[in-house]
Amino acid sequence: MTGQKKTLVACYVEKKYNQGIRTDTDEKQSNNQRTDNQNSQRKEETMKKKIMIVLALVLSACMLTACGSSTCKKCDNEVYKDGLCQEHYYEAHPLEALGDLASGLKDLFG
Ligand SMILES: [Zn+2]
Repeated sequence: MTGQKKTLVACYVEKKYNQGIRTDTDEKQSNNQRTDNQNSQRKEETMKKKIMIVLALVLSACMLTACGSSTCKKCDNEVYKDGLCQEHYYEAHPLEALGDLASGLKDLFG
């Protein structure tokens, strides 16, 4: 009986000891994993920020070129109205051209 008890106690102690070691190493591993995850998350966040900044720059550049394009859609002349130069705008809107011409003549001759 005593022999069995001893072995049982020994087994119990051994189990506890192993568990203690295991939990220690597990905690260390999980700690390492946690810091690794934090590092990778930080890297991802900085990458996302960088991507967002690049996207914002590209978008603003596109908007600037779209809004500030000073050349006609049909030729390289300066834009007069609706993204067209005076020549092509009048071509697309002949009545307005006549009106502008009339007002121009009125300005010229009073
Ligand atoms: Zn044009």
